Amino acid sequence: MIMPEQRRRLVTEIPGPVSRELLARRASAVARGVSNMLPVFVTDAGGGVIVDADGNSLIDFGSGIAVVSVGNAAPRVAARVTEQVSRFTHTCFMVTPYEGYVAVCEELAARTPGDHEKRSALFNSGAEAVENAVKIARHATRRQAVVAFDHAYHGRTNLTMALTAKNMPYKDKFGPFAGEVYRMPMAYPLRWPGGPDACAAQALEVVKSLIHAQVGEDNVAAVIIEPIQGEGGFVVPPDGFLPGLASFCRDNGIVFIADEIQTGFCRTGDWFACDHEGVVPDLVTTAKGIAGGLPLAAVTGRAGIMDSVHSGGLGGTYGGNPVACAAALGAIETMEAEDLAGRARRIGEIMLPRLHKLASAHPVIADVRGRGAMLAVELCRPGTLEPDPVTTSAVSAFCHRAGLVTLTCGTFGNVIRFLPPLVIGEDLLDEGLSIVEDAFASVVS
Ligand SMILES: *Cc1c(COP(=O)(O)O)cnc(C)c1O
Repeated sequence: MIMPEQRRRLVTEIPGPVSRELLARRASAVARGVSNMLPVFVTDAGGGVIVDADGNSLIDFGSGIAVVSVGNAAPRVAARVTEQVSRFTHTCFMVTPYEGYVAVCEELAARTPGDHEKRSALFNSGAEAVENAVKIARHATRRQAVVAFDHAYHGRTNLTMALTAKNMPYKDKFGPFAGEVYRMPMAYPLRWPGGPDACAAQALEVVKSLIHAQVGEDNVAAVIIEPIQGEGGFVVPPDGFLPGLASFCRDNGIVFIADEIQTGFCRTGDWFACDHEGVVPDLVTTAKGIAGGLPLAAVTGRAGIMDSVHSGGLGGTYGGNPVACAAALGAIETMEAEDLAGRARRIGEIMLPRLHKLASAHPVIADVRGRGAMLAVELCRPGTLEPDPVTTSAVSAFCHRAGLVTLTCGTFGNVIRFLPPLVIGEDLLDEGLSIVEDAFASVVS
């Protein structure tokens, strides 16, 4: 593996001529529905940088959407993948099994919250894991209703579109959507009508009474929630909300599903975001950070729930592909050996004070939030809660032109999120933050 030089370097405008040529080819071959946030074509990536076809080297604050926490070509991942790919690439676990799949499930049982007996099943994508978690919860409970939240994001397949809250771009004219999905208000401290201090208790009461009145507790198969919301705007529910929700589920025989696809695998400074308050979900969905960039996803949960499904009821041709499993074992080994949960906390300690300082200089920043290396700023018209997606896009575009990969998110498109690889050097982290500061200074008059 060749690690690109760990520095930012701009030799052309962004995108440069080679990328622009590839963009033209892209336009006549790739469907328009698949968009690009930053249209430079990558030739190399690793550590904290992405190198493009024009020779520009960009600082990465996106990690391919929280995927390459261990880096884009982590040595342990590359070594295990290379070895596996030269032995066999596929047999289908449902036809003839192999050890890597079992080893990944053992790691999932050991790392996910709770020390109860667990089982896992492996899939290809986050959406597929969420679909399967719902299948399993319905089968185990013989109930149908699924409760999801405002600002939720759970994927782009039919059922997961139904669970996802935001219309554009995820759902618009893609219906009809799967039925028996009920949406509840999210404990969103900045926007909670009763204020942030009342948010946890009031939101819990509202959710419980709406479920009672509109669905009926004993019709609910599952409540699914991201312990920190991802695409919906990095909304962090106040302490107390998740434990309260989990105990409501326990009291009513409802399967509590934590969608840890974006938050999992050390991103927030713990192995899983639920660990922060000691919440033990019945089922956990994982994907993104699990395998250093190879497509892999999982549902992990209580043995009794998981094993309620008949033999043959779960699976798929590629789920738990041996190369992806090898990558996951390399990624998990890296997280353990390099204490990437500790790295994530350290990233938070470096970034949060600078983001708070930025917010006090720029009243357009209404909120700074997140945990570990999953951080965001929400932009509103100063003194109001009116979203400011225009300034958000302008700040983001400034960062891109300056060679910093940042992502936006949020139901209102007014959140800039920061998801650096957990292995990024502190000099690059500092430099990236300086670009964000310059962007606000230049864009906000
Ligand atoms: C990305 C994401 C998904 C969907 O994962 P895909 O691999 O893109 O299907 C589901 N839930 C959450 C919380 C996510 O962040």
